[in-house]
Amino acid sequence: MQSERAKQFSSGLRETVAGAMASTYLISRQIAGSIKTEKEQHRRAIPILNLHRVSVLRPEHPMTLHPAAFRKLLEALQKNYRFISLRELDEILMRGSNSDDLVSLTFDDCYGCNYVYALPILKELGIPATFFVSTGFIDSSKPLTHDINWKIYDLPNFTSKQLEAMAAHPDYEMGSHSVTHVDFSRSGDQATVRSELRDSKLTLERITGRPVVRLAIPFGHPAHFTREVIDIAQEVGYVRAYSHFGGRNVIPGDGRVGFVLHRICNQDEPDYARACLEGYRGRSSFLPGKTDKSDWPLEFHPIQLRRL
Ligand SMILES: [Zn+2]
Repeated sequence: MQSERAKQFSSGLRETVAGAMASTYLISRQIAGSIKTEKEQHRRAIPILNLHRVSVLRPEHPMTLHPAAFRKLLEALQKNYRFISLRELDEILMRGSNSDDLVSLTFDDCYGCNYVYALPILKELGIPATFFVSTGFIDSSKPLTHDINWKIYDLPNFTSKQLEAMAAHPDYEMGSHSVTHVDFSRSGDQATVRSELRDSKLTLERITGRPVVRLAIPFGHPAHFTREVIDIAQEVGYVRAYSHFGGRNVIPGDGRVGFVLHRICNQDEPDYARACLEGYRGRSSFLPGKTDKSDWPLEFHPIQLRRL
């Protein structure tokens, strides 16, 4: 026979479980509702993924994705999404309507391993990509500052020949990631901003023979998007700048596309990336670290994938 206390506990537990189920139901209804609304309105948001390096070197580092894991990630995404270039994404945003599940892929910094390991897989799977390059590291063995901080000195940088070969393929576009991978929240004077944005653009245009109109701001957090950076970026000829936060890009509907688009870093924020990709489309207040990881397929988790 149950004691009074045990009865109260068990009834309280039932209420708690019932309450949790009710709120889960409500949340899932809200999510489902927002997906439906987005789709019905032909304004389905488009995420842009940001990776850094695909390599067999330094596989333990969070910025590295092993080639096997990279392939698995892309194949998993291809089941539900169509990969588009940033150029096509611009056209869709300007058109102001989208009902498809689309995603765009970008790489940052100057890692030559992406030519060796990522490019063959991208070609095989027919996936377009944009490479944002910090031009001061091309044809050199200089490590990037954040790699020095991690005591990583052995990663090869892109060569001019690799960049030229990639840019010759219609699926791959080069964008600027400044010259020195500068931190504009610390070095934001006009002369520095201008030379970082203009010189990197000119260098890439000289190497590739193609116009360079896209800019991924190094570090890419709100503090790096200063008024100077935005104004000078537009002045020297960029048509779009990309963040390192914010996730999805909502279709504006009125054709008024902002200068800055958002990206998700799958390696820094795997939870957030998966949330953006996997059904949290309606939750603009969603924050990293608040997700229930248990219901997410392993394929989207690079840390798990590296164990392959
Ligand atoms: Zn970077």
